[in-house]
This record gives sequence, structure tokens and C-alpha cells, in this order.
Amino acid sequence: MFAVLAGALALGLFYRWQPLRFDVIPRRPPRPQPWTDPDSRRLFRPGTRVTVVVAHPDDPEFYVAGLLTRLAASGARLSLVVATDGDKGYYPFGDSGALRRTRRREQDAAAAGWNAREVVYLGYPDGRLPESPEVVAAIVRELRRLRPEYVLLLDGRYPPRLTHRDHRRAGRMAAEAARQAGASRWLLHCSTGAPNFAVDVTGQWDRRWELLRIHRSQFRGRRLRRVQDLITRNAISDGRLLGVRYAEGLRCVPLRHGEERRVPKRR
Ligand SMILES: [Zn+2]
Repeated sequence: MFAVLAGALALGLFYRWQPLRFDVIPRRPPRPQPWTDPDSRRLFRPGTRVTVVVAHPDDPEFYVAGLLTRLAASGARLSLVVATDGDKGYYPFGDSGALRRTRRREQDAAAAGWNAREVVYLGYPDGRLPESPEVVAAIVRELRRLRPEYVLLLDGRYPPRLTHRDHRRAGRMAAEAARQAGASRWLLHCSTGAPNFAVDVTGQWDRRWELLRIHRSQFRGRRLRRVQDLITRNAISDGRLLGVRYAEGLRCVPLRHGEERRVPKRR
């Protein structure tokens, strides 16, 4: 009996320590969402300002490398805000300082690959991103300065069942920050469990892997192949929404109409 209790406690402590989160009941919208085109003629017009807000170096290339390649080709003015330093500092083994520098270098190179004009690192602790007014305010400052028409962010409200806790928090805080900053028209949530729009990225498929492979410290060998399998499965599933081979699904929310006013405080 004692051994069972000790085992359960150890498992519970391990779950709290490691940064992945799993929903026993998937978080999904109460009603099916209508297909929502985020004014895509405007999105793919030269000069459109798009700011990507993510949790970690590598998130943009993991989730939306195809979309970013298309936006770069159409002449969008792209920028990136990365909330954490990506050093996996919660992990007791390994050189977090060296990893931080490596991942920043990799993200700079990858973002240059999709013509980002600016990359901002907010430098919050990786795996332990706090969900706080301070972080929201830091994102608001960047959005007020960059004035994006579109904010491309992780889905913190309807995430996939298994995701990084930092992704959920970064997504919720970026949505809140975009509302406070007030300049943007659309939230485009990637890594979502509830897509209501999708972008055909079949033509960008080879380029997507070139961009992902720039993050060599994270993706190589067996892990790279595992990640490629996962991304490919998701892109085929999102492709079915459009009747194309590969797509990237998004949950698009117009900011003016005030859906999602409040950010629920959940882990
Ligand atoms: Zn991440």
C-alpha cells in the first residue's frame, strides 16, 4: 500500500516538474466553428505586418514554416517575439548557458530564412514561463512598437491534447497582449486543436524541412525523423480541410468582434 502511494506521489511530482501537459478531456470549442478566412488577400499582400509570438526558439519552424515561407514570398513584413530563452534550465544536467546561445543563433538563422526583419527574445525561463501581467506587458510593448495587422501565436485556449505548458501560457498571454495593444486585426493561432482555416503549404514542403533542420541542437537523427512524421501527419490532416496534400491549420479570431474577451486562468 505504501509503495503504491509513494509511486503515485513520485509520478505526480515528476508530472509537475516536467513541462508537458496532457488533457484527459480535450479542450475544444463548445460548438463547431465556422470556416473563417482571416482576410487572406490582405494577409498575402506585400507590406502586411505579421508578428509571430512563440514560447521557444524552433516553435515558428516547427508549426508554421510553410506559412512563413509563403508570407516571406508575398512580401510581408515579418517579425518574431520569443518569450523564453530556450535553455531548458529546469533540467539539472547540461550547460544551459551554451544551449541558450546555440538556440538563439539557430533561431536567428532560421528567422532570416523567412525574412524576419527583427527577432526579439524576452528571455523568460524555459519550461517555467510565468503566466503573469509582467510577461503580458512585455509582449504588449513589442506589439505596440511593431504594430502588426496579424499576430501569429500558439493556441493556449484549444491546444492539442499534449503540449508544452510554455506553449499554452505563451498563447494565452499573446492573445491577451494583442487585445491590450489594440493595433491588430486578427489572431492566427497555430498548433491548435480547433482549426477553422488552413493554408496550403504543399509548394513549401521541402523548404519547411530546410528551415526546421537549422535547429540542429534540437532536431537531428531519430528525433528529427520522429518530429517529421508528426508534422507530416498533422499537415496531411489539415490538408484534408482544403483538399490539398499538405496544409497548416489555424484558428483565426478577429480582434474587433471581441470573441474570447477573457482569458481563463487555467494551467
Ligand atoms: Zn516550443
